[in-house]
Amino acid sequence: MTAVRLEAVRIPPRLCGFDPGEARVFDVVLDGARVASVTPTPGQPPARGTLISAPVDAHVHLDKNYTVQEVGAAQGDLFTAIRRMDAHRASWTAESLRARMERALHEAWHSGTRALRTHLDWVTPEAPVALGVFEALRAEWQDRIALQFVSLTPLDVLADPAAGERIAQDVKRAGGVLGAFVYRNAELAAKLGRVFELAARHGLALDFHVDEGLDVEATGLRSIAALAIRHGPGLPVVCGHACSLAMQADAAAAHTLALCAGAGLHLIALPTTNLYLQGAWDRTPVARGITRIREAAAHGVRASLATDNVQDAFYPYGGYDLIETFGLGVQVAHLAPAFDWLDTVTLNPARALGLAWDGRIAAGCPADLLLLAATDEYELLDPRGRRRTVIRAGRILESTR
Ligand SMILES: [Zn+2]
Repeated sequence: MTAVRLEAVRIPPRLCGFDPGEARVFDVVLDGARVASVTPTPGQPPARGTLISAPVDAHVHLDKNYTVQEVGAAQGDLFTAIRRMDAHRASWTAESLRARMERALHEAWHSGTRALRTHLDWVTPEAPVALGVFEALRAEWQDRIALQFVSLTPLDVLADPAAGERIAQDVKRAGGVLGAFVYRNAELAAKLGRVFELAARHGLALDFHVDEGLDVEATGLRSIAALAIRHGPGLPVVCGHACSLAMQADAAAAHTLALCAGAGLHLIALPTTNLYLQGAWDRTPVARGITRIREAAAHGVRASLATDNVQDAFYPYGGYDLIETFGLGVQVAHLAPAFDWLDTVTLNPARALGLAWDGRIAAGCPADLLLLAATDEYELLDPRGRRRTVIRAGRILESTR
């Protein structure tokens, strides 16, 4: 194979696995499935594009997607959406699940995504039909997208000793991550404590849906961070949503974020679903449900942005292009300059998922890259700038540039 040469590309500083010095643009040579070299472009001409590592989608729901035409949109009511999906889940077959999941994987793959973690609804002690479908797809797609799953169980079910033990055993056998939906549960701290003990006993990582609402009393994130500190760094913890953090007083939120930093906890914001489900629907919404990404960064917690729901009762729009979600996150959370926040869809989620490569670009790293047409932070959010060349294992998969 002849070496591929990418000339005069910008690499966001946070994604540089080398010292960029004063250089603005670089020549990147790929050799086989690896990056052979990264060197400043002679003469530093105008940039021809932006090079990032292939994005990592840390939070999706492959089992629910593309069902909105059957279940209807919930228009801002999370618990209506949960009830509707509960009723619809009974009709899910391995065949229908596989078709919907594959549609999502093809879209993610063509957008450039290299790894993806999906939650799978797991509402009873018995493993869901979706697990077997997921395991087959994980094997079929292993050379294209690294797939992970999280069991998504109501906290009250997972904290039940018998149910929790059974779920943890099945999750361990299938190589997954243990998860729960946490929102203002009674005896929250005690139930979370049991979940942490369960995870520690089985050697499982944790990934929570936490505080997905605007009630200031929803403080699950604080309890989880405190437990994570107690259990130590051997137990990786990811928390998605944390919407209520945005509604709490600055001092209380800062205290929680300091605990998150101390725990090494990974925070994931889900702009599309949060914008849709949170905030008023009987008038113009004011509170919008996006968590405190900037304050978290000031505390040393670099959040991820992820896709969450696609065309289901929770979010009736959207797709699996993380660069689109990134653009929305930039606008909603005032992440400027946008170049400095591209770690939210690359480096940070790669670390949250514990991937072998964290996504920093340097000689010797995998040639799994995305070359965007954008030459500055403003073009990152326009349709021309989002045009891209997807490069996987050193080969150009496709190009819309
Ligand atoms: Zn979710």
